[in-house]
Amino acid sequence: MKQIKLAHGNGGEENNELISKIFYKAFKNEILEKSEDAAIIEDGKLAFSTDSFTVTPLFFAGADIGKLAVCGTCNDLAMMGAQPKYLTCSVIVEEGFSIDELKKIVSSMQKELEINGAKVVSGDTKVVPRGSVDKIFINTTGIGKVLKSGISSNSITDEDAIIVSRDIGCHGATIFAAREGIELTSELKSDCTSLYPIVKKLLDEDIHVTAMRDATRGGLSAVLNEWAKQSNICIEVDEDKIPVCDEVMGLCELLGFDATSLANEGTFLLAVKTQDAKKALEILQKFNKNASIIGKLTDLHVKKVILNSAWGTQRFLDMPTGELLPRIC
Ligand code: MG
Repeated sequence: MKQIKLAHGNGGEENNELISKIFYKAFKNEILEKSEDAAIIEDGKLAFSTDSFTVTPLFFAGADIGKLAVCGTCNDLAMMGAQPKYLTCSVIVEEGFSIDELKKIVSSMQKELEINGAKVVSGDTKVVPRGSVDKIFINTTGIGKVLKSGISSNSITDEDAIIVSRDIGCHGATIFAAREGIELTSELKSDCTSLYPIVKKLLDEDIHVTAMRDATRGGLSAVLNEWAKQSNICIEVDEDKIPVCDEVMGLCELLGFDATSLANEGTFLLAVKTQDAKKALEILQKFNKNASIIGKLTDLHVKKVILNSAWGTQRFLDMPTGELLPRIC
């Protein structure tokens, strides 16, 4: 590794290598090493997370960079069973950027903050000369109040079932189609949404959630592989139980993508105690009818993910590698 490549930001194998060899090595501490969606701090009372947004185009079907910037950070807090409370908003904007577009982006942010019941309480603005940044980059950092403690990607056991909250790949497919000017269908839009209201409902209904993770960069396959490694388990998923809508399937077939590694921005995976799986599914289906129990734990190959095809064959579902699509979020 001599120079940064685009693949180092893919949310997959190369991204993990960069993080572990450079950042974890320097910043090493036990909170960071838990590799959760948000750090749990202050004796388990608070969740703390940050995310930067560089998506292009800035406006796309279903959302824009502003909505994404609030959803991204708030969702990482929600995945730890926390209620998003306070955010920072840091903006790096290029000279010449349209004030009207900036207003639109900030108004999307405010709308999404209200859905989460969170507020921006600190911020920063930097303007850089034309060409120093592509239009606008946004960083948000958030603090949330932990409502249910103990949720962790390091604690999944064979008593858990694996559930996906809706059909996968819509965000990645939407961004790809927008960037390439592919008019596949007017139906396809990003799944970008705030997950806290769904998480709140699950917790209110006393669902025994072991772990949750939003399937952002690297998609469903990245999350499953991270969980397999972090919890030292083998996850077995059934291909025909993984929901993929026709539009995303069409784009995947056309371009040779795998929907399981396409990015999502409002789709999450849950590891739920088996006895609660059906009840959790019923709650999730009220938000999206495509929620599905996709897998279980086995002891075939520890730290690996196995995909059972509809024809009865098995293969490993590996961590995505290479760079499919940079600047997806
Ligand atoms: Mg996340």
